[in-house]
Amino acid sequence: MNLIEVFNKYPTQKDCIEYLEKIKWQEKPICPYCKSNKSHRMPAENRHYCHNCLTSYRVTVGTIFHDTRLPLQKWFLAISLIMNAKKGIASRQLAKDIQVTKDTAWSIQMRIRKAMIETPSLLTGIVEMDETYIGGKPRKSNNPNNNTPLKRGRGNKKTAVVGVVERKGKVFDRKMQKLSFKDLKRTAKQVIDFDNAVLMTDDYRGYIPFKNLIEHQVVNHSNKQYVSGIKHTNTIEVFWALLKRGIAGQYHHLSDRYLNKYIIEFCFRYNNRDNKNLFKDTITSALNF
Ligand SMILES: [Zn+2]
Repeated sequence: MNLIEVFNKYPTQKDCIEYLEKIKWQEKPICPYCKSNKSHRMPAENRHYCHNCLTSYRVTVGTIFHDTRLPLQKWFLAISLIMNAKKGIASRQLAKDIQVTKDTAWSIQMRIRKAMIETPSLLTGIVEMDETYIGGKPRKSNNPNNNTPLKRGRGNKKTAVVGVVERKGKVFDRKMQKLSFKDLKRTAKQVIDFDNAVLMTDDYRGYIPFKNLIEHQVVNHSNKQYVSGIKHTNTIEVFWALLKRGIAGQYHHLSDRYLNKYIIEFCFRYNNRDNKNLFKDTITSALNF
């Protein structure tokens, strides 16, 4: 849903609460503390009173919306803005758009990212795996006449990120401490169905032993080979470009500590690019925290 649709559909706190209750309980409230379904609605504050543990509760208990004084409509608008911003949205911008302080906007974004954590099913078919470096200063050779690219990121302050993508499917990225075969294998095992996938990588040496574990094809970037029939890693490279443009444009002071959270956000948007129920699905996920 876009901003105007959200704005029109959920104009008041009451409308937002009703929507959350419908998704979470299908009209039958369950106490978050004792799981009893015996309760009555209290007249004020959108609360329910549990007949079993004699506690009152709201639908927002145990969700990303818990313990916030912010009107739910602002949360809804923030979710819509973030979902529709292909390259992400800076907290300064979000703060202006929904009229909150920058700190509030930042904390809203961090909470919404929790709702974006996915556990995708294993990737199959042609699966591209690649690594890149994010942050730090652009790499330049010390010798201005030397145009040969420097070695892959090692020795600078950039952070290594590994990405795995199924062609026409989902992407999975994460920050890595090291890029040894052992580390790459651990990540690959978590996301790829080794029996039903063909792994496509460049000729980085960390990938060489994969040939013993999975059908493995290598695109020889060192020999300037980039596309040869189905042999390429263009899908993941398109994603890298999106991620890097987003991070450079929106998140100027990207802290290494939060890098995985930004990555999660970009993967989620990419993986839901054709999802017509994205707003509802995100709200559903947000209710499960
Ligand atoms: Zn209870």
